[in-house]
Amino acid sequence: MKIIDINVRTFTHMSNQNKDSDGHSHPCKPRQVRQSLLTIQCDDGSEGHCFAPVEVVRPYLINNFVRIVLIGEHPYDREKLWQGLAHWQRGSTAQLTDRTLAAVEMALWDLAGRKLGVPVYKLIGAYRDKVPAYGSTMCGDEIPGGLATPEDYGRYAEWLVKRGYKAIKLHTWMKPVSFAPDPKMDVKACAAVREAVGEGFPLMLDAYHGYSRSEALWLGLELQKLGYAWYEEPMNEASISSYAWLASNLTMPVIGPETADGKFHTRAEWIKAGACDITRTGVLDVGGIGPSLKIIHLAEAFGMNCEVHGGGAGNLTLCAVQKNGMYYERGLLHPFIDYDEVPEYLHSRTDTMDADGNVRLPQIPGLGDDINFDYINANLV
Ligand code: MG
Repeated sequence: MKIIDINVRTFTHMSNQNKDSDGHSHPCKPRQVRQSLLTIQCDDGSEGHCFAPVEVVRPYLINNFVRIVLIGEHPYDREKLWQGLAHWQRGSTAQLTDRTLAAVEMALWDLAGRKLGVPVYKLIGAYRDKVPAYGSTMCGDEIPGGLATPEDYGRYAEWLVKRGYKAIKLHTWMKPVSFAPDPKMDVKACAAVREAVGEGFPLMLDAYHGYSRSEALWLGLELQKLGYAWYEEPMNEASISSYAWLASNLTMPVIGPETADGKFHTRAEWIKAGACDITRTGVLDVGGIGPSLKIIHLAEAFGMNCEVHGGGAGNLTLCAVQKNGMYYERGLLHPFIDYDEVPEYLHSRTDTMDADGNVRLPQIPGLGDDINFDYINANLV
């Protein structure tokens, strides 16, 4: 069994979200967008797939790096193939990113799961078959009735609790919102949500990512008073010293890093420096499932939780194979978006959540996306 081809199908679908000038998603009128499906094919006809943004699997990357490392190799040699790509990142003039590694590696996992007839989380070794989700809001905006005021956040939190969520994470206002960033407004939103859901309900904050030390500490001390469960990325994550200083000055858990480069190496440095109380991984942040497992196990060895960043089949898989993590991040959510709607390119949502706030792992072979190939093939670019 060997890999004989790698292809990318780019297709269109409708979306009711767009990104602002800082890269944050917000609701918008339905519009046509493009997405890609990466497919790895073997000589026995087996295939593995992974969805990815168009630019992450663009032809230059597939032809100049991915094909060269993968073609002719056994698709189960995931560590060898991942190391081959990871080693090439340095010499790729920054073209080959962790996101491309993640798409390729997850397609290899999907291929193995499909070939062996098991969900990938069972193949890795499951810890649980359902994961409690936290509702993760979009960043604040200036849309009337959206997430424009602290009261909007409070009202939406009440709805999220009714929908079944057992925990909520706020993303507050960031640039280019006219009054952002403002730690005082962050606290007002956090207080409104605490008021709405009552004491003891788990709440988290992912604040503006560029506060100074003094702003970050002031905000953290206010969150402590409000009984928040974790405090995420209030400063630039390149400064490990700043996070060690913040964590030493707060009793509440500081979580991170999320977006910092350096895969498991960086997470190890954060733990060693005392820069976090809970560490973080996400398939797109560190190059896939394999490197994320290294981080989860690293954290476990230090008696530390590792919370998974972001949604989707790969991250849900990670949540199901760990003991040292609480939640699946479901979102991003907004009052004007029906998150439970099934995307046109799937037959069902990968992260369907029940009324008790649990996401049950899909039981189909592979990574878990129930792909609508007919739709994709009918809407190719
Ligand atoms: Mg975050």
